[in-house]
Amino acid sequence: NLSEKLDKAFHILKGHGKITEINVADTLKEVRRALLDADVNFKIAKEFTNTVKEKAIGQDVLTTLQPGQLLVKLVKDELTELMGGDVAGINLSGNPTVILMSGLQGSGKTTFSGKLANHLKTKRNKKPLLVACDVYRPAAINQLHVVGDQIGVEVYSELGNNNPVEIALNAVKYAKEKGYNVVIVDTAGRLAVDEEMMTEIANVHKALNPQETLFVVDSMTGQDAVNTAKAFNDRLNFDGVILTKLDGDTRGGAALTIKSVVNKPIKFVGTGEKMEAIDVFYPNRMAERILGMGDVVSLVERAQEQFNEEEARKLQKKIAKNEFGFDDFLSQIQQVKKMGNMKDLVGMIPGASKAMKDVEIEDDAFKHIEAIIYSMTPAERSRPAIIDMKRKTRIAKGAGRRIEEVNQLMKQFDQMSKMMKMMQGPGGKNLMKMMGG
Ligand code: GDP
Ligand code: MG
Repeated sequence: NLSEKLDKAFHILKGHGKITEINVADTLKEVRRALLDADVNFKIAKEFTNTVKEKAIGQDVLTTLQPGQLLVKLVKDELTELMGGDVAGINLSGNPTVILMSGLQGSGKTTFSGKLANHLKTKRNKKPLLVACDVYRPAAINQLHVVGDQIGVEVYSELGNNNPVEIALNAVKYAKEKGYNVVIVDTAGRLAVDEEMMTEIANVHKALNPQETLFVVDSMTGQDAVNTAKAFNDRLNFDGVILTKLDGDTRGGAALTIKSVVNKPIKFVGTGEKMEAIDVFYPNRMAERILGMGDVVSLVERAQEQFNEEEARKLQKKIAKNEFGFDDFLSQIQQVKKMGNMKDLVGMIPGASKAMKDVEIEDDAFKHIEAIIYSMTPAERSRPAIIDMKRKTRIAKGAGRRIEEVNQLMKQFDQMSKMMKMMQGPGGKNLMKMMGG
């Protein structure tokens, strides 16, 4: 994976007591190889390392105290630049705002339409309408209705009409009548670029004249993603790119190359199948993530969203009064689970992805822990101190787990309680505040 390879590249520098021009060059050669392995286009990878080299020479990397760190920073800045530099917003100026989705079949258009509707509804206070213009497969229309039901957004579709231009125009009219201020149009895609699909999407585009035309692409398709982006951009001159499936084992090449090939910003990323798995694309955070620095800011933001303030205050009181028990532990676990996939979360913690790379993280890593807690009596949960060997044996049996696992949980719980008490002390206030307390 790209992060690991880059890390290895910098290792060349870190390993040497004395930094020379030669090992800076070696490092950059490794960086270039890592980029190529991640499916970054050859020309871009070459330009990239040349730019970093020039800047390194310009800033006299060799004479600074920490040349390794400075070089990492130069690479990070350059990666950020490559991915568009600043955050690209979404244009919501229309009345209603029309957002058109384009992209190949399976890229994630329908899923992303739902995610975007949900995002605009919950975060931007908009009233979105979803429109089903994938008229070839009845299942596709149905899929959008399922998505709409999930997020409580109305879906406009016309059974029996297979003219997407007509449906789209009718939907905009309908939106005006009903007071919807955003219209998100989901369209049909083919498995590969072909003339029929291009003509159809171009016609819908022309008829709608949307504020935002978004090109949705599966980030796992690597170099193909870039070629497809080019083909769609030539026809539609779209406004932004949506990178989906960034939660998968993507090599990162698409994110790094697309911007420089079509010169359009990446606006959002999809990071999972759930409706909440959408993130605004921050080039600098993505660069940090690629470099293995972890996306701490995203993690904190997600934590802030999920941790209910009221809950946090109650918890703080309990900790202060030494009343923190397994029931609270359980509800903490449930909060963490709401934050998303464990693998995603671990990936965001600096250093953790490396440390955990050999550890198999189950999607529901907490299942066993929950089972053990559920097999405790209320008294045991609120006063864990009473749990002796006999009780442990009973709990383990009830949960269908080994006694070692119960011991391990007790130990973790103990550490967590201690840590929480510490957070109560001076200097710990900020951490609680961060979690929404
Ligand atoms: P469409 O043909 O372009 O409309 O693609 P869909 O929205 O139907 O998505 C195709 C498949 O990819 C579905 O199984 C989705 O659940 C899945 N999918 C979409 N976005 C993501 C994502 O960000 N992460 C993951 N893991 N799966 C996704
Ligand atoms: Mg679809």
